[in-house]
Amino acid sequence: MTRPVSLHGQVLTPDGPVAARLSFGALIESIEPTGPVSGAAQAVYLLPGFIDTHVHGGGGGDTMDGEAGTRQLARTHARHGTTTLLPTTMTAPWPQVISALRGVAAVMATGVDGGADVIGAHLEGPFISPDRLGAQAPFDCLPLPELVAEVLALGVVRAVTMAPELPGALEAARSFAAAGVRVGVGHTTASFEQTWALLEEVRQTGAEVAGTHLFNAMGGLSGRQPGPAGALLTHPAAYLELITDGHHLHPATLALTLTAAPERALLISDAIRATGLGDGASELGGQAVTVLNGKATLQGGTLAGSVLTLDLALRNLLALGYPLPLVSRLLSENSARSLGLTDRGRLEVGLRADVVVLGADLRVRQVYVGGVAILEEPL
Ligand SMILES: [Zn+2]
Repeated sequence: MTRPVSLHGQVLTPDGPVAARLSFGALIESIEPTGPVSGAAQAVYLLPGFIDTHVHGGGGGDTMDGEAGTRQLARTHARHGTTTLLPTTMTAPWPQVISALRGVAAVMATGVDGGADVIGAHLEGPFISPDRLGAQAPFDCLPLPELVAEVLALGVVRAVTMAPELPGALEAARSFAAAGVRVGVGHTTASFEQTWALLEEVRQTGAEVAGTHLFNAMGGLSGRQPGPAGALLTHPAAYLELITDGHHLHPATLALTLTAAPERALLISDAIRATGLGDGASELGGQAVTVLNGKATLQGGTLAGSVLTLDLALRNLLALGYPLPLVSRLLSENSARSLGLTDRGRLEVGLRADVVVLGADLRVRQVYVGGVAILEEPL
């Protein structure tokens, strides 16, 4: 149920922060500048809801569990400011992947009471390189046309991660693109040229392209071999997923990316089911995971996704000195554009009332999804 809400504070509009009163029902109705604010309102920040295009789990639930797991993660992340998300599958035996996608479809059909808006799934693998699995289990396979067709028939996939060097990858990418799916490059050993060719192929169809957790599970960038990271950084249309948990990217690598592509970078959580549960033993894609001091690893030390929430991703970037208007764009506007969403991602009259309210300590106090209050703590 939506009821009229009116909030006063520093409103992060597309033109920058404005001291204003933001009023909304299901949609944003008005943003009225108030002149300089004082007292409590001075320290209240109103941001567009965060959009997570890559999230496996949270609060004990995982996309691979099916409908219940997806509902659980959508509720958990909503309390941290994520108002739209793509539940993300793991590389697993094919029937399990299909079953997880059916779970996402069931959630989309009814919505999540008290949770984020689930607008589709991110299919991360199984069309990835056996040599760059990262924390994915070894159930990778080739993107055979019949598998791609089976997935697309479910009508739920909104983003895919695949390795361009696999036989049949270009044809599969064309099929995904024709269905309006954002095609992401990741978990790959591709060359710069192979990556560039796939990005160009997809762009010709008008679909969006992306790099899945840039620099992770794809190797780095060197003088004579720019690799997938070099192709993604320099291709003018490629969106760049970044995990800013302090473990996946060195601050200098982050600085390079945000200098090169502030309009194409976006923050993701890549969160696993252990998110929000503290340190201890957990699971990812059927593999044992240990969470220690906010870092999730497989036995052997490979990073196993993250236990990040996007509000923490925001605070991490602010602590590194990045300005709030930029960080807000990386969490909302750029992510929305990467998925072709035009009804959200900015605080603008007429758009969905997906709103996050931060207090002076930059912690999430209130969250509204389509105008519905998910979290309402006193300011
Ligand atoms: Zn992932």
